[in-house]
Amino acid sequence: MTGIRLYNTRTRTKEDFAPIDSANVRMYVCGPTVYDRAHLGNARPVVVFDTLFRLLRHEYGPDHVTYVRNFTDVDDKINARAAEMKAAGDARPLEAIIRELTDGTIGWYHADMDALGALRPTIEPRATEFIGQMIAMIAGLITTDHAYVKEGHVLFRVRSYCDYGRLSGRSVDDMIAGARVEVAPFKEDPMDFVLWKPSTDDLPGWESPWGRGRPGWHIECSAMSHELLGESFDIHGGGIDLQFPHHENEIAQSMCAYPHGDFARVWMHNEMLQVEGKKMSKSLGNFFTVRDLLDQGVPGEVIRFVMLSTHYSKPMDWTAEKAAGAEATLRKWRTMTFRSKADTITPAEFIEALADDLNSHQAITLIHKFARQGNGGAVLACARLIGLLTPELGDWFTFGEGTVSGDERIDEISMVRNEARQKGLYEFSDELRDMLIEIGVGVFDNKFSSAAYFEAENLKRTLQSEAWSFWRSGEIGKAKEIAAQAAEAGLKIYVDEDGPSAVTGIDEIKAQGFFERKILNILKRAREIRLEMGVPQ
Ligand SMILES: [Zn+2]
Repeated sequence: MTGIRLYNTRTRTKEDFAPIDSANVRMYVCGPTVYDRAHLGNARPVVVFDTLFRLLRHEYGPDHVTYVRNFTDVDDKINARAAEMKAAGDARPLEAIIRELTDGTIGWYHADMDALGALRPTIEPRATEFIGQMIAMIAGLITTDHAYVKEGHVLFRVRSYCDYGRLSGRSVDDMIAGARVEVAPFKEDPMDFVLWKPSTDDLPGWESPWGRGRPGWHIECSAMSHELLGESFDIHGGGIDLQFPHHENEIAQSMCAYPHGDFARVWMHNEMLQVEGKKMSKSLGNFFTVRDLLDQGVPGEVIRFVMLSTHYSKPMDWTAEKAAGAEATLRKWRTMTFRSKADTITPAEFIEALADDLNSHQAITLIHKFARQGNGGAVLACARLIGLLTPELGDWFTFGEGTVSGDERIDEISMVRNEARQKGLYEFSDELRDMLIEIGVGVFDNKFSSAAYFEAENLKRTLQSEAWSFWRSGEIGKAKEIAAQAAEAGLKIYVDEDGPSAVTGIDEIKAQGFFERKILNILKRAREIRLEMGVPQ
């Protein structure tokens, strides 16, 4: 077993990970408020902790990891939406409207996160199904003086927990100075936060010792993690934006309610997501949901790849260029592994990279290396461990139309395009790209290089020659099977009375002499561009 090391936000060090019970490794991640579609930033913790979940399952066995991620289905925004529907004439009880609203949003969430290849957590509790546990926990906190009742509210007495602020490394006084704390007349101290609040008749509510009301947000995670994972569990995750106040409050509540437990031992936080270098916001017009991207034809697998390309502890920038690069890479990997079987043993260096605080960036670099070595078995084994190149995510992929086999003229043109891109002279590289595409050559660019890919054509030729060897030995049925297999991948191989033949658009074009003339024109233009760029010939 590879030793996993994780950066613990609480201790600010990378620590050896040793689960409390290796037969049941337990992780809790704060889930969504099911109010609306998940935006792209919401998807980052999902992909990050899904990858950790996969690594833990790989190391401890798939039946020995419990991953809990909650749904917050009691929230003022949800209530407001339901109240709007009621005001618009919906005659059902508020609770029924809310249930239908949140059921629908949970359905969207599942569909969107499934599309990113995220496994469903072991348990996905809904807050409204754990109100009894929250009430019991709050009652206990009142008994031990960590909480008090005032004007129908129950508040947590922050000054009663001396370690408050340790997770984010700030003192209570600093936090008061820096945060926009709500100063309410019923609070003893501005930092105290709500555990329970009263509900008027037009709001959803539950009976409690403090009257009809509803829980505050923070108590949810404490009550549900305790119920489902116990007083001490291994990992608590979430976005860095939740560190304060949400996670500080969770720790305070749980440690005061169950002082003999450790609550969560390792705290992990993923950094935020930006779009094209800017914070995602509705006012900047760069705000979009996962569904928006999927609907624009960006495959979920591409989104996952882009997210994993950046280490979770660094801010991540979503750019169209990265998405294009990811698509080209996945296309190349899927093509080269088309007939590979995943190795049963995943290369140790790959596991070590992931085990080093989930270094998915390094993990992807290693997959590139195995791909360059032509090691399809290793590429598949590694990629699948982090949820890429899985059959479920392969819907989008078909072999590129009109790619050509290794042709040194195209290689020279690609080289000139690379030089132009390195110099920032994109107009030249784009001009050549458009010329290549026009004659049916697949061109794929990423941040670092550009290339015209030939794998589909190579694969087609391999399949064709295999079909031929069966044909020659009289095994016509097997030759036809290969043709059928090729057809599934969009490669046209026909078996007729003359034997197997392969056809692609490019072959037809070549047969007409059109390709030869055109490619020479493009090569001529590429050489001119090289001169214009001042590259010595
Ligand atoms: Zn939480």
